[in-house]
Amino acid sequence: MKVLLLGSGGREHAFAWKFVQSEKLEKLYVAPGNAGTATIAENVAINPNDFEKIKEFVLEKGITMLVVGPEDPLVNGIHDFFLADEALNSIPVIGPEKLGAQLEGSKDFSKEFMFRHNIPTAKYKSITSENLQEGLTFLESLKAPYVLKADGLAAGKGVLIISDLKEAKHSLKEMINGMFGDASSTVVIEEFLAGIELSVFVLTDGKNYKTLAEAKDYKRIGEGDTGLNTGGMGAISPVPFATADFMKKVEDRVIVPTIDGLQKDNIPYKGFIFIGLMNIGGDPYVIEYNVRMGDPETEVIIPRIKSDLLELMEAVSKQELDTVHFEMDDRTVTTVMLVAGGYPEAYQKGKVITKLEEVEGSIVFHAGTTFSGKDVVTNGGRVISVSSYGDSMQSALDKSFKNAALINFEGKYYRKDIGFDLK
Ligand code: ATP
Repeated sequence: MKVLLLGSGGREHAFAWKFVQSEKLEKLYVAPGNAGTATIAENVAINPNDFEKIKEFVLEKGITMLVVGPEDPLVNGIHDFFLADEALNSIPVIGPEKLGAQLEGSKDFSKEFMFRHNIPTAKYKSITSENLQEGLTFLESLKAPYVLKADGLAAGKGVLIISDLKEAKHSLKEMINGMFGDASSTVVIEEFLAGIELSVFVLTDGKNYKTLAEAKDYKRIGEGDTGLNTGGMGAISPVPFATADFMKKVEDRVIVPTIDGLQKDNIPYKGFIFIGLMNIGGDPYVIEYNVRMGDPETEVIIPRIKSDLLELMEAVSKQELDTVHFEMDDRTVTTVMLVAGGYPEAYQKGKVITKLEEVEGSIVFHAGTTFSGKDVVTNGGRVISVSSYGDSMQSALDKSFKNAALINFEGKYYRKDIGFDLK
């Protein structure tokens, strides 16, 4: 197979790391990739949203599969673009079409989907300038804190959780008036769910599915889950509190109705579903769907997949996922993210990263890195994800922390308490 993978984060390095272990792989290109993917595949300087350039490249190189890492190209319709083009429509794309991608691209769409298929989730109301009064009344009917979400994609920043009713009403108006541009012209108001969060990852061909595993990520910049939100500071899989009983409920109440719902609604779907869940007293409630793998969760899930991921993806493309053997590693994998000083606010790029070659006992997944001459340098807020296997969560964490301390660049920061709440 000649594979083109879109994206440039730790998620894509983890995919690439797994793909190059497959006997099915003939050649792997990553667009645009990072310094990590450059060492195991060929990076190409194409923006994942530049569909015409992607087409040109795919035809020139005879690509036989497109794997889409981030959500943007999916929500923008890259899969539909391939299907609509005679020269491209026989090339399988891993990632849903635009309609399925609405599960992430529109919170209103995804809440309607969940209610239509009786999938447990928070009560909600979708509000625009047309029915603002209804929104204000709905807020009054809820208990604090109040959850306000921009309907569209807002780079993970479009959710406000507000403790004061007056302030919530004010923010609702501000959002509708363009606080997040067009993304918040519709606002989803939700009941607040109090519980502990985790995510479950599923690969589906739209009919059959494989539940890969669950993971827990750490979103805040500060230890003890404090401070600003980030793209993710670390992750752990499996999650100790996700017992067999809980995972059975997730399968019966969430995964099966989701796959059945896609079929009933005639939503074709070939790709990953990331289900964000709240565990409330042992019962799962869906917070959100994402239509791709998470980052840094991919850096703990992919190392646990024992099966050939390209074989699984090939089966997805043929809608034969039920025929493929699939196995996960029982061991725990943890990851600790090294970030640039100042992140998630202003930070510098171009800092030389050292000691990478001295790492032992962990897998180094590059995120925001690039080459400057022979040096690997920082090129983003989240820089490197240090993933490790362990027979216990603690033994995996010990390795991740040891190597996180070793790898160095000016301004390096990482959380030293990943997993603190699971011990
Ligand atoms: P992400 O960056 O996770 O993709 P997003 O912008 O898509 O974020 P959500 O995942 O829907 O938005 O919400 C972001 C976070 O806000 C959740 O991870 C969760 O911690 C919190 N949250 C969202 N909805 C609720 C809710 N109903 N009750 C409690 N907390 C919530």
